[in-house]
Amino acid sequence: MQADVNPDDEVIALTRALLRFDTINPPGDESLCMAFLADYLQQQGFNVHLQQFGDRRFNLLARIDGRRPERAPLAFTGHLDTVPLGNAEWRFGAFDGEIVDGRLYGRGASDMKAAIAAFIVACRQQRSAIAAGCGVVLLLTGGEETGCDGARALIAEAREHLPKIGALIVGEPTANYPVVGHKGALWLRCETRGKTAHGAMPELGINAIYLAAEAIGKIRHFEPGAPHPLMKRPTLNVGTIDGGLNINSVPDRSRFDVDIRTAPNLRHDEIRQRLTTAMGDTVTITTLVDLPSILTEPRNAWVRQVFARCAPLHDAPLEPRVVPYFTDASVLLDTLGSPPCIILGPGEPAMAHQTDEYCAVDKLRQAVVLYGQLISDWG
Ligand SMILES: [Zn+2]
Repeated sequence: MQADVNPDDEVIALTRALLRFDTINPPGDESLCMAFLADYLQQQGFNVHLQQFGDRRFNLLARIDGRRPERAPLAFTGHLDTVPLGNAEWRFGAFDGEIVDGRLYGRGASDMKAAIAAFIVACRQQRSAIAAGCGVVLLLTGGEETGCDGARALIAEAREHLPKIGALIVGEPTANYPVVGHKGALWLRCETRGKTAHGAMPELGINAIYLAAEAIGKIRHFEPGAPHPLMKRPTLNVGTIDGGLNINSVPDRSRFDVDIRTAPNLRHDEIRQRLTTAMGDTVTITTLVDLPSILTEPRNAWVRQVFARCAPLHDAPLEPRVVPYFTDASVLLDTLGSPPCIILGPGEPAMAHQTDEYCAVDKLRQAVVLYGQLISDWG
């Protein structure tokens, strides 16, 4: 695979190579893509550890150790799985990596194979500085799109391979804007139970759909907590509902899922408790996903250094910003020793999960330079 890499266009070639693997999740299959990367990174001098977390599901840990152990290494993280293509037809091949008008098209181009290619190429270019300095760690995950399954498996099963990290860069799409945090997510499954009866004699049953509708009515304007100065208001959305088997029976079961997005000033166990009280005892709640928000202090010295490196790439002065979507950092940070964390990637935030997803080629090239500067600054 490496033979067809033109050295001038290494990052384009590597992004395209990653786009060619179908890593759509669900169903999720990172096996060939991770095997390719393991091989590629080994040739670049990385120590590589592949971790399987399911049938054809993989994470990959890669590191170059430095000669200055007194400072913990810089780490990059990215996920290799992508969301499905959607129902609309693509104008460009979703796995071809076509470049048209300065845009590199493909599923996962923005979210986030381009970023992964960019930090791998930056590491190769800085390899001797890395080895003479503090080292670098790459945490490449699968299963992110379905709720950080890969990252969870990584901290559960590969803990002994995870070194303490000095700072973490998450390559999610920000158009090379440094982002200091993101909201947390609390996903709850709510169930109501009733009593079935013939649809012509509803007075003999208890309608579980009515119970669900009443509960949803009670939480429609529920406030998960006070607004956060940076992350603003927490949100709640009922995303799915189902129940009942046929039109002429009283349904004895209904289920709806609630998606709450939170900020660091809010505790998930408290929100869940208040929501339970608000809905009443006809509803049973199960937690599906519980990911904390993350926020790095914008005055942190390293964060200020990252901002200084990013500033020339943007017209307006940079300000501390957060994004609404969650990332693997929610799961990883604690285990990595809670280092400062920046979300920074060449992808277009608005292109994530879209038809005809693309990454701008100039931003991709900028990211290689930018990541290289951050590696050398750390060094
Ligand atoms: Zn992503």
